[in-house]
Amino acid sequence: MLQRLTSGHVVWEAKEGACGSLSPDVIKKLSKWSQKRIYSKEAGGLILGFVDSETNGLLAEELTVPGPGDQRSRTSFFRSERHQREAEYWNMQTNCKGTQLGLWHTHPEANPTPSGTDLSDCERVLRNGRFDCNGLLYLIVGTQTIGCWHAQVGRPLYLLGHFKP
Ligand SMILES: [Zn+2]
Repeated sequence: MLQRLTSGHVVWEAKEGACGSLSPDVIKKLSKWSQKRIYSKEAGGLILGFVDSETNGLLAEELTVPGPGDQRSRTSFFRSERHQREAEYWNMQTNCKGTQLGLWHTHPEANPTPSGTDLSDCERVLRNGRFDCNGLLYLIVGTQTIGCWHAQVGRPLYLLGHFKP
């Protein structure tokens, strides 16, 4: 389930109580990378933020974005190790409170769905256990909507919904 609040936040809830939000700033940053033009390349990175102490909600507030080391084409994006280092730096900057909450990338399609490569990348990230939280947020930015999924080890991605940024 996805809901847009009047504050501009998008809140989501998965089965079994996993929940979270995307800040208006994160939504703005994501839509900036949307592949609106015929020559736009895929983009991607990590979703950073905080875990709410009361609800365990994933509060997405920041992103890592394409840069040195990444490989980008019209239909693929390879995330370099630099994103991991930036997530560690973000953790330091936030007195060890900020953490990585998930993955994002773009697709040159209106209402995006994960490819086979996406599913195996997500599975690999879940299994190497760099995420503190129980499951991660998986976002794909399309040309019209942003698709949101909740991912947990050994389970199929759970679709939370698509929203217009
Ligand atoms: Zn993809």
